[in-house]
Amino acid sequence: MGKYAIGIDVGGTQIRMGIFDADMQLVAQQKFLTDADSTAAELMDFLAQQTKQMVEKTGLKPQDVRGAGAAFPASVDTGRGVTLESGNVVCLVDQPVRDMLEQRLQMPVIVDNDGNLAALAEHRYGAGRGYDHMIYATLATGIGGGLILNGQLYHGMHGMAGEIGHMFISDSTGYPCGCGVIGCVDSISSGTFMARYAMDRIKEGEESRILDFAGTLSSVDMVAVGRALQMNDPLALEVVNRGAEYLGRMFHSLNQIFDINIFVYGGGITNLGHRFTDRMIASYRHHSLIDQKYPAKFLPAELGGRAEMIGAALLVP
Ligand SMILES: [Zn+2]
Repeated sequence: MGKYAIGIDVGGTQIRMGIFDADMQLVAQQKFLTDADSTAAELMDFLAQQTKQMVEKTGLKPQDVRGAGAAFPASVDTGRGVTLESGNVVCLVDQPVRDMLEQRLQMPVIVDNDGNLAALAEHRYGAGRGYDHMIYATLATGIGGGLILNGQLYHGMHGMAGEIGHMFISDSTGYPCGCGVIGCVDSISSGTFMARYAMDRIKEGEESRILDFAGTLSSVDMVAVGRALQMNDPLALEVVNRGAEYLGRMFHSLNQIFDINIFVYGGGITNLGHRFTDRMIASYRHHSLIDQKYPAKFLPAELGGRAEMIGAALLVP
């Protein structure tokens, strides 16, 4: 049996793939931009072609590889290997991605949600090492996550557990979420929707440095918000505090359900820095009565953008 495993991470903006040896050391890796306009079949063709080329370029034979794991930015029925919903990559809706990849790669393939796989990787090699229970949260363009219960990734009944971004948090302050519901924490605190909120407040006439940094209203993003935040721009502060407040509530609800207060968090919007994460943690501590007795640990993720790819490779038995 081959000693190498492939990890593939299909993100909303980029694709990463790597080859890992038996000690989970990365021996090769490649990065590409995700083509948002491709069909599912075209995307799978591309992934398979690039994977095969990477194996060949590394000097390995197909039989040296025991299988591939793949992370998708979608809710995934892991048992059937089917992606169900995807806010970021529309072509992934209701696609039998496992079978499509197995057919093309001619090797065993296991698929899962990207948040789950980042959780798996952070638990094994990152900030969650040594904890029996842990909740991982991706705070990025969208909000995702994964649950480690009793040392194992928890999948739920249909393989879709850990979609913490769709936790219902308020029916009055959110925009319609990508999933169709109004009031998911994603629709308030994700990078996409924090930027949308900033944009709408500026449209209403709010003066802000955010616009100076963004250039035009339609280019308002969290980088512009972050730069305005550094200048103590009042709107940037409002946007960031609002997002952080609801994330704190999300973590509080998670702790109430699971009695887990080890929270590992990663993702692009943590680049906003301490003012954002401190406010998020303060919101949690404000709402959680049990926190004085059992203080939560909020741990920054350690594996960065590679977590999903590492987690994907860890799926390969
Ligand atoms: Zn939602």
